[in-house]
Amino acid sequence: MVPKEKIDSILEGYDKDDITIATLCSHSSLQIFHGAKKAGFKTIGFSVSQDTRYYDAFPLGKPDELIRFQDYDEIFERAGEFTDRNVVLIPHGSFVEYIGPKKFEKLEIPCYGNRAVLQWESDRDMERQWITSAGVSMPRIINDAREIDKPVLVKYHGAKGGRGFFVAKDYPDFKMSIDHTQPYNIQEYVLGTRYYLHFFYSPLKQDGYKVSRGGTMELLSMDRRDESNIDELYKLGSQEDLKKHGLYPSFVVTGNVPVVIRESLLPKAFEMAEKIVNRSYDLFGGIWGPFCLETIVTDKLEFKVFEISTRIVAGTNPFISGSPYADLIYPGLSTGGRMANEIKGAAQENILEQILT
Ligand code: AMP
Repeated sequence: MVPKEKIDSILEGYDKDDITIATLCSHSSLQIFHGAKKAGFKTIGFSVSQDTRYYDAFPLGKPDELIRFQDYDEIFERAGEFTDRNVVLIPHGSFVEYIGPKKFEKLEIPCYGNRAVLQWESDRDMERQWITSAGVSMPRIINDAREIDKPVLVKYHGAKGGRGFFVAKDYPDFKMSIDHTQPYNIQEYVLGTRYYLHFFYSPLKQDGYKVSRGGTMELLSMDRRDESNIDELYKLGSQEDLKKHGLYPSFVVTGNVPVVIRESLLPKAFEMAEKIVNRSYDLFGGIWGPFCLETIVTDKLEFKVFEISTRIVAGTNPFISGSPYADLIYPGLSTGGRMANEIKGAAQENILEQILT
């Protein structure tokens, strides 16, 4: 982890009126650049293997400058060049994933959000400890496969993007599919509807939905992920039959659909978000900025959180020009725009060190 003092000393040399926002050309970068440009920032897109021609199709989301690197190490080698240009990095899921969370911690360029969260988020056991100790409910873990008596989801450690999971309905089913050479965990399959809640916690803003530790919580938007092939599998008949033909369900995210939740669930949603933020400060110095609670709501109208993403998620992309929720706070603002405004406000007040690590 780059020592916070190091980042703070880099920031001392920054011209706060001339900040440049940079991120990797992927994931939610159109939205991030669009929001940053609207707030008046210069923007740089980093690319390694990413094809950046698609930006020409979306001029308002195209960064002012594109820099192509040979590999991700080159970003580290050239860090000084970017700090000389007052660069602030916005991390997103692909940026962190491609560099690797352990390595991302070491990048000596100021970064929006708390990088200490990376180890809590990338280890499923630590993530569970954080969320459950906050008093928020998660799918139950089954420690002994012989106890499987209801549908379960088996997740291999490090399974990403919905690959490396399988559903088992009983122990024989589990035995048939399990690969014992990889570590895994078994959790109850929660039957219900999925909602991915896009929150934004600002420790700096004081008016709005106040959080007990100070600052305010905003709910900017909500999506549901399109997952291939599980979303369409039902059209082919029973999963048991399909298995005989070598067809297994997968949960690979291919897109995002905007949703809203019934209004009476909003108080519970905010309560969960507040508890998780408060607990993050007890455990590792906090999370701030955008984060997503990935939830399933059961027919008892209870939330189960199966995952947290502690930065902008691609599910915010349908809301580049606002959302049914954001429009009640900042009409027309995206999560990308909200981050840009937070950074702009902190730069104007000369308190960037409070939100950059
Ligand atoms: P994850 O990699 O944990 O984000 O999970 C990928 C997908 O698997 C989710 O979007 C859900 O569709 C599904 N999923 C994950 N955990 C559960 C669970 N405990 N019960 C039901 N579905 C789940």
